[in-house]
Amino acid sequence: MFDCAIVGGGPAGLTAAIYLARFHLRVRLLDAGDSRCALIPLTRNHAGFPDGISGIELLDRMRAQATKYGVEIVSGHCDRLERAEESFLVHGPGAPFSARTVLLATGVVNHRPAAIDEELHATALQQGLLRYCPVCDGYEVTDKRVAVLGTGDRGCAEAIFLRGYTRDVTLIAPDGGHEFTDKQRRSLDEAGIAIVDGPADGFRIEQDRLLLDTRGTSHGFDSVYPALGSHIRTELLYELGGERGEDGCITVDTHQRTDVRWLYAAGDVVLGLDQISHAMGEAGVAATTIRNDLAQRYPVRR
Ligand SMILES: Cc1cc2nc3c(=O)[nH]c(=O)nc-3n(C[C@H](O)[C@H](O)[C@H](O)COP(=O)(O)OP(=O)(O)OC[C@H]3O[C@@H](n4cnc5c(N)ncnc54)[C@H](O)[C@@H]3O)c2cc1C
Repeated sequence: MFDCAIVGGGPAGLTAAIYLARFHLRVRLLDAGDSRCALIPLTRNHAGFPDGISGIELLDRMRAQATKYGVEIVSGHCDRLERAEESFLVHGPGAPFSARTVLLATGVVNHRPAAIDEELHATALQQGLLRYCPVCDGYEVTDKRVAVLGTGDRGCAEAIFLRGYTRDVTLIAPDGGHEFTDKQRRSLDEAGIAIVDGPADGFRIEQDRLLLDTRGTSHGFDSVYPALGSHIRTELLYELGGERGEDGCITVDTHQRTDVRWLYAAGDVVLGLDQISHAMGEAGVAATTIRNDLAQRYPVRR
C-alpha cells in the first residue's frame, strides 16, 4: 500500500513527489513521459536560473531529487483508477497497486497546427521559431516580427497580449476566414495588429524565419505562436465522476482537493496559466494537504 500514487512526472508531479517523500511517506509516480516542460529549449523566466535552463535538464534534476528521497518512478501510462473502500487501485504498467491517495498531475497537450509536420514542428520549437507560451517567452520576441495562428477570442487575446512586446504582430486564421465580433475587430485595429485570412499552409524554415503561405501570399516571421487551445488530460478524474470547471480544468478547493475523496490535482490540469512556478506551487500545497489529510486517518509518526 502506497501513501500516494502520483500520475504525471512533470514539474507538478515531481515537486509533489519530493515533498511527500520528505514527509516520510511511500510514493510511487507513474509517468507517460511527455511533459510539456520537456519541449522547452531554454526557460528564462523560471526564477533561480539567470542564464535559463532547458526543460529536459530541469526535469532530470527534479527526478534525481525525487529518487534521492526514495520515490519510485515508473515509466508508463496510468489507464484507470478504481475506487476500493478507503483507497484506490491504480492500473498502469505491471500489476495494479493500491494507494491511499492519488494526485493527478497529468497536464495538458497543446493543439498543434495541422499543416506543420512533426519534424518541422520539433525543429521550429528548438529554434524559437514556434512558441506556445507568450507569458513564458514573450520577452524573447521583443521588437521582432511575430504571428499568432488563431482567431476568435483566443487568437485575439493572444495577439493583443503580444502587442506588449512588439509593434509587429499579425493574426492569421489557421483554417479559413477570421471569426471576430465588431468589438474584437476594433481592438485589433486600434492595437495596429495586421489581420490575415487563412488557410495557413506551406510552413518552412528559411534564413532563420518561419515562412507560411495564405491564399498564394508568402509571409515570414521571427516567431509564430499557435493559439489553438489544448486538450486537458482529465480522463482519470472523469471516470471517477469528479467535477470539471467551465474551462475544462479539474475543479479543486484551495488545498488542491478534488470533489472525489482522497483524490487531489495540481499543475496545468487545474489552471490554464501554464507556468512551471505555478505547477510547482500547487504541488507543494497538494502534497502538504495530502500529508495532513492522511494524518487525520492514521498517525504519521517515526
Ligand atoms: C514550448 C513550451 C515552452 C514553455 N516555456 C515555459 C517557460 O519558459 N516557463 C514556464 O514557466 N513554463 C513554460 N511552459 C509551460 C510549462 O511547460 C508547463 O506549465 C509545465 O510543464 C506544467 O507542468 P505539469 O506538471 O502540470 O504538466 P506537464 O509538464 O505537461 O506534465 C504532465 C505529465 O503527466 C504525464 N501523464 C499524463 N497523463 C498520464 C497518465 N494517464 N499516466 C501517466 N502519466 C501521464 C505526461 O506524460 C507528462 O509527463 C512552456 C510550455 C511549452 C509547451
